[in-house]
Amino acid sequence: MSGPQRKRNLPRADQILPGLWRLRLPIVAWPGVPHVNAFAIASGSGVVLVDTGLAEPGGLGRLEQALDQAGLRLEHVRLLVCTHAHSDHYGLAAPIMEASGCELWMHPRHEHMTRAAKDPERAFERRIEVARQSGVPEQALREYQSARKERGMGIVKIVMPQRDLVPGVTVDTDLGAWDVYETPGHAPSHVVLHQRERGLLISGDHLLGRVSLYYDYGWTPDPAGEFLDSLEVVERLDAGLCLAGHGRPFRDVRGHIQANRRAVAERVERVRGAIDGRRLTPFEIVPALIGEEELTPMMVNWGLSETLSYLRHLERLGEVEKVSEDPARWVSA
Ligand SMILES: [Zn+2]
Ligand SMILES: [Zn+2]
Repeated sequence: MSGPQRKRNLPRADQILPGLWRLRLPIVAWPGVPHVNAFAIASGSGVVLVDTGLAEPGGLGRLEQALDQAGLRLEHVRLLVCTHAHSDHYGLAAPIMEASGCELWMHPRHEHMTRAAKDPERAFERRIEVARQSGVPEQALREYQSARKERGMGIVKIVMPQRDLVPGVTVDTDLGAWDVYETPGHAPSHVVLHQRERGLLISGDHLLGRVSLYYDYGWTPDPAGEFLDSLEVVERLDAGLCLAGHGRPFRDVRGHIQANRRAVAERVERVRGAIDGRRLTPFEIVPALIGEEELTPMMVNWGLSETLSYLRHLERLGEVEKVSEDPARWVSA
């Protein structure tokens, strides 16, 4: 790559306020996700680092380059806090802790990553089994399989948090204390950090500048419902500036919350509409949800999690039911 495109995708530190930097870290391995944000917040003689970037070739170097633009090095990290245990927010935790000697704080429901990472083969087989039971045909399963293998886990190694990042814990910085709010849905381990006096919200992937719905299916009863509840939690905070895990910071927090609600309602409606009068497998519903033109293996993977999440949500609302197993078929209730 050369020219303006390469330039645009360099690691960068943007100062949001004195003592608060957005570290914009390019992601190479994930098509459609050009970068992830970490945040460095001044704290005494160093910084609190929120999120890590993805473990991929050059990933740690890109984090160091972004830190360097803020006049910082890995050794300045006094504490590492992860908004959730996805690899783009947690993947580099191990080398950061090694270089700085810092602690990691993260929500205790991180098994969706840490258990899977302990035995990737088994986790992978489990996902394949979920896909098979969802009606994914053999050929697509194989494509999905090789796409997943290529992507890898995106973490250097599993590290456990020294402290549970749960409500009541505060993250103290030079900008004041940040309160922790649980916001499951996108991931069971998801939390947001709120700095009340300044009206700042570090939202991870719960609230993004561009609506992009993803649920970690299979760990909790109703990820989509949990996501909607978490939107209410964040709405009550009435934050004035949102620092999201991807994309630029934004001010219209309430507007973004409403846009997310509308998007969920609209996508739930697509699933509801797709099975109206039919008996469909989750896989057969995916094109209605994400659109034919986006049916790449990675999108099918995401779309399947999303479809399963909405089916589960509608099932809890009494609107749909599963009428057969292996493959599962769903009908309107
Ligand atoms: Zn995430
Ligand atoms: Zn992310």
